[in-house]
Amino acid sequence: TKKRLVMGNWKMHGSLDQNAQLLNQLIADLGNAHSQTDIVVCAPHPYLAQLQQLLSGSPIQWGAQNMSEHEAGAFTGEVSATMLKDFGCQWVLLGHSERRALYGETDTLVLAKTQAALQAGLTPVVCVGETEAEHEQNQTQSVILQQLQQLLELSPDLLRRLVIAYEPVWAIGTGKSASPEQAQSVHAYIRGLLQQAEAPNVRILYGGSVNPTNAADLFKMPDIDGALVGGASLKANDFLSIAAA
Ligand code: 13P
Repeated sequence: TKKRLVMGNWKMHGSLDQNAQLLNQLIADLGNAHSQTDIVVCAPHPYLAQLQQLLSGSPIQWGAQNMSEHEAGAFTGEVSATMLKDFGCQWVLLGHSERRALYGETDTLVLAKTQAALQAGLTPVVCVGETEAEHEQNQTQSVILQQLQQLLELSPDLLRRLVIAYEPVWAIGTGKSASPEQAQSVHAYIRGLLQQAEAPNVRILYGGSVNPTNAADLFKMPDIDGALVGGASLKANDFLSIAAA
């Protein structure tokens, strides 16, 4: 019923040349992976025009990694939701742990950005997850509840348009993925919260050291609806084998 969703988060990597190579290889080798799976790449803002040019008419969709909570105005250095739409984005990552940890994004700010994205017709992919210290102190559920609480007060109609990505901070870029069982137990908790909020079918992605070897086992779990892929999304073969897992 829910189509699987595999998203690449390039983070601050790439160049016009590298991107062209990667995207052309993705298109050439895609096969029919997209028949079962929505496939999305999220690039740095300057490259969105390139994505629009190279991916238009292909089955691969694209999005951004961040945006402003404001519609327009005196916000030097910021990028609005409607600008992302101008470049064909349908998706935007919001509240990634790197934005929270390095750029001070709060739950309140992530909510404002989510509302702005929805308003513009983008699909927000809201990222949540606990740090290693919180994990060791068994605070995973309370941290995630805190991160999602304000969001869950959105109307069910809006909430149903979101995607949630669970990315345990200790698994990001470490090569140490959560086990399928560990991830599933958190996804089941998030599913319960979404059910209470009348949005049971929201897709919940897992992120954190997903690779071609562990993807299939993660996808077997009932509440894991796809993946948010960092490092492995920079290699066409790896990203495609995750998308086809
Ligand atoms: P890695 O796949 O490199 O661990 O990154 C995960 C991530 O942060 C995706 O948003």
